[in-house]
Amino acid sequence: MARIVMKFGGTSMAGTERIRNVASRVKREVDAGNEVAVVVSAMSGETDRLVGYCREASPLADPAEYDVVVAAGEQITSGLLAITLQSLGVKARSWLGWQLPIRTSSAHSVARIEDIETAAILASMAAGEVAVVPGFQGLTADDRVTTLGRGGSDTSAVAMAAALKADRCDIYTDVDGVYTTDPRIVPRARKLHRINYEEMLELASVGAKVLQTRSVELAMKEKVVVQVLSSFSDAPGTLVVDEDDEMEQELIAGIVADKGEAKVTLVGVPDKPGAVAGIF
Ligand code: ASP
Ligand code: MG
Repeated sequence: MARIVMKFGGTSMAGTERIRNVASRVKREVDAGNEVAVVVSAMSGETDRLVGYCREASPLADPAEYDVVVAAGEQITSGLLAITLQSLGVKARSWLGWQLPIRTSSAHSVARIEDIETAAILASMAAGEVAVVPGFQGLTADDRVTTLGRGGSDTSAVAMAAALKADRCDIYTDVDGVYTTDPRIVPRARKLHRINYEEMLELASVGAKVLQTRSVELAMKEKVVVQVLSSFSDAPGTLVVDEDDEMEQELIAGIVADKGEAKVTLVGVPDKPGAVAGIF
């Protein structure tokens, strides 16, 4: 028996049909005898829609109330997944950020997780209940709802895995692992079966959109074994683990491209003080 955290992103949670697919993957782990906590994102597009409402209401929306609004997407998917699991005969309940609670800093919209209370959720999991936890949200010391910044559910999942001392944190997404480079651009890109934290951090921070950078930093710090998998296929994913000392480890694990950068070359710039400053 293992204790695992499974995380499903917005594409995996987009609509009741897809949530049923998620529920059947969770059921498989439960049937195999594992204790499971699931961390979910809002349905894809939902958080953008909620952010849009805040902007429409006021361009200077109070950040604390902004968080109340944008945290709602994950509340909906948590409840829907618990309902769907129950309909498959799996015992499940949701645990909202404020119910655990997941304590965070008070930096609204970019809060950092400080502590997760686990006694109640662990007791429920030990009694055979799947715990469904909304990603992205938390609670300040003075009980205001916070969110962790866009893409923050990955960080929620890794933090839950660390707090629950889980054996693994499986991150289900719409790609089936980490590739040597973007397979949509380079058809010969290969899937990596393993990658170490430092390399994953490097890839994430320069543009590989598989995992939120902060979640990789946290996994490295807390030594959480992360696995990136697809929720739409049964292909083996990529394990993100501690540096291993394989003798023949590749020197370069992957290559990422960033379309947001450009190089401009100016020629014939006069070689006198102030010329370059003037151009800038
Ligand atoms: N729903 C949030 C977002 O779209 C958090 C997440 O999905 O990771 O940014
Ligand atoms: Mg994401």
